[in-house]
Amino acid sequence: MIYLDNAATTFPKPESVYQAVEYANRNLSFNAGRGSYKLAREATKLIDETKGKLLSLVDAPGSAKVVFTPSITIAINEILNGLSLVPGDNIYVSPYEHNAVARTVHLLCKKKNVQVIEIPLDRETLEIDVERLKYLFSKKIPACVCCTHVSNVTGYILPVEQIFRLAKQYSAVTVLDTAQSMGVVEVNAKKIGADFIAFAGHKTLYGPMGIGGFIDVNGIKLNGFIVGGTGSDSLNLEMPEKSPEKHESSSQNIVAIAGLRAALDEVHVKEFYEDEKRLTEYLIQELQKIDDVTLYLPPENVRVGMVSLNVEGYKAEDIGLILDEDYDIAVRTGYHCAPFVHKWLKDEDYAGTVRVSVGRFVRTEDIDSVVRAIGEIVGEI
Ligand code: PLP
Repeated sequence: MIYLDNAATTFPKPESVYQAVEYANRNLSFNAGRGSYKLAREATKLIDETKGKLLSLVDAPGSAKVVFTPSITIAINEILNGLSLVPGDNIYVSPYEHNAVARTVHLLCKKKNVQVIEIPLDRETLEIDVERLKYLFSKKIPACVCCTHVSNVTGYILPVEQIFRLAKQYSAVTVLDTAQSMGVVEVNAKKIGADFIAFAGHKTLYGPMGIGGFIDVNGIKLNGFIVGGTGSDSLNLEMPEKSPEKHESSSQNIVAIAGLRAALDEVHVKEFYEDEKRLTEYLIQELQKIDDVTLYLPPENVRVGMVSLNVEGYKAEDIGLILDEDYDIAVRTGYHCAPFVHKWLKDEDYAGTVRVSVGRFVRTEDIDSVVRAIGEIVGEI
């Protein structure tokens, strides 16, 4: 199988991740923070070390804290639902958001009567229109701005630093979704201007599934959202006031955390970015040679990791099925859990796009194979 669905989850993982998961499953699967015995303490140490590695990866300030959750979706829910929003507040999101954000703000809209506003795009390039955003902010003051760093549909790298800088002129809370960036695109907590940086262990960080979370950069107080046992102050029906405990009820997934720790030891952001960029540009260059293929491309300097395309005369899903059945090539098709962007891409006739996403273990030959397969499907090879 040629795996080109790395934006869904990266595969394979580095060998050390599999080994760490196996080791932790057999030797370290104890409940951290809930027992006074040696192995429970060791589990706690593993968690603390992993958090330390995440903080250094993003060059976080000394006071920043990591909260672990079972996934980035839960992390984003915890952040957005934890904000002290009042009816009439404006939450800005980019049109590139995944449903982890889109459905969460939609629900908030219904629960808290806040207004969700989409950040405007330039009609030609589909880049964020910073000038119009400036104007919009001045008319409808932002309370919260939540953005993905890299689009999981087109690989567009959003100008989040610029967006958050503008948002901070209004003291808005800023939230960054790094599911498709952390580990491949630089995320610097001191520069990027996000109050909360949500991350997914199993995507660009190359850890296992079952672990995500967020970095609380500036200590903005969040109300508790998911409540339960924390292993501390058990007679108290209130959650602990302090972060991360306040947001970490339930037993921690120590096995996934062990895998994430191993994954973090293998991260070399600059090198991975260059590799992914080279593969992405090669893929684009080769696909551009085939007539009947439409590519949904952000400008060259702001794209990485994946390409969305369609083939004249086929629904996106059909191409995915043919690639799977006839060529054993795995890609993702459809709307990619990103509800807003398709009205900009105008891909409804195809029922979404075919997304080819590269990764650390993809070779140039794999790109050649998928391009050749698409060429054969359209009858040009
Ligand atoms: N955010 C983005 C940008 C994503 O691409 C995804 C998954 O594709 C998510 C959030 C949600 O990730 P998970 O399903 O691991 O919670």
